[in-house]
Amino acid sequence: MSTPNTPVLNAAGDVLRALVVEDEPNLADVLVRMLAFDGWAAEQARTGASALAIAQEFRPDVVVLDVMLPDTSGLEVLRGLREQNPAVCVLFLTAKDSLEDRITGITAGGDDYVTKPFSFQEVSARLRGLVRRAGIARPSEGTGLSVGDLTMDEEAREVRRGGKVVELTATEFELLRFLMRNPRVVLSKAQILDRVWSYDFGGGGHVVELYISYLRKKLGADVAPMIHTVRGIGYVLKPAAPSTRRERAAGAQ
Ligand code: CA
Repeated sequence: MSTPNTPVLNAAGDVLRALVVEDEPNLADVLVRMLAFDGWAAEQARTGASALAIAQEFRPDVVVLDVMLPDTSGLEVLRGLREQNPAVCVLFLTAKDSLEDRITGITAGGDDYVTKPFSFQEVSARLRGLVRRAGIARPSEGTGLSVGDLTMDEEAREVRRGGKVVELTATEFELLRFLMRNPRVVLSKAQILDRVWSYDFGGGGHVVELYISYLRKKLGADVAPMIHTVRGIGYVLKPAAPSTRRERAAGAQ
C-alpha cells in the first residue's frame, strides 16, 4: 500500500480542512478519500444547503465546489460560504462546456477551477497552490523527493538523474511523482491509473505500460534500471542496484 502524503498544515501546525461539495456520490467519496490521503482533513456535502450547514461547524479552509448542484448553484453556495468566512479558498469543479466565462470572472479573485474530467493530482496541486498563495498553508520544508540518484523538485517541476536534467511531459512527471512518493512500494496498474489519470479515464492498464516504458527510456533504464516490473501486479521504483563487480572492474580500467 502506498503511504499518505505530508499533511497540509497552517502556521499553527493544524491540518487544513477541505470541504467537498459535490452531488455525484462516487465522485464526492473519491475526492474525500483522496484528500484525506493527501494530507487534508476532509468532509463532504451533497447539496448547497448542507454545504453551508456543515461549513458552520467544520470551518473549511478550502472548498472543492461543484458548480452544478441539485438545489442551488455553486456560485450561490460560494456567496454563503464567503459570508461565513471571507478568506475561504474555492476550487470549482466545472463541466467542459458550462459557465466557464462566469467562473473565469470569479477566479480572478484568486479562486481556481478544474474542468471535469480531472486527475486527482491536478486537484491536489491546485488546492496546495491556492492555500499557498492565500498564505494559509505553512511553507513546505523543501519540496524535493529523492530516490537513489534520482531527484525531483516538485514546485520547480524539475527532475534530475545523477545531476542531469531529465525532460518529462506532464503525464510522465505525474507518474514519476507518484512512484517517487512511494519508493520500494509495489503499485498496481489500477492504483497508478487511479492516481495519475482522470478518475473516469476509460483506458486500460496498457496506457500505464506505455508511460512506464517512456519513463524507463528517459531515466536511462539500459544503464541502471530503477523501475521494475512485478509480474502480474505492477511496478516498483527502487534505487538502482550497485553495479556488478565486473562493471566496476571495467570502469576502473
Ligand atoms: Ca453536479
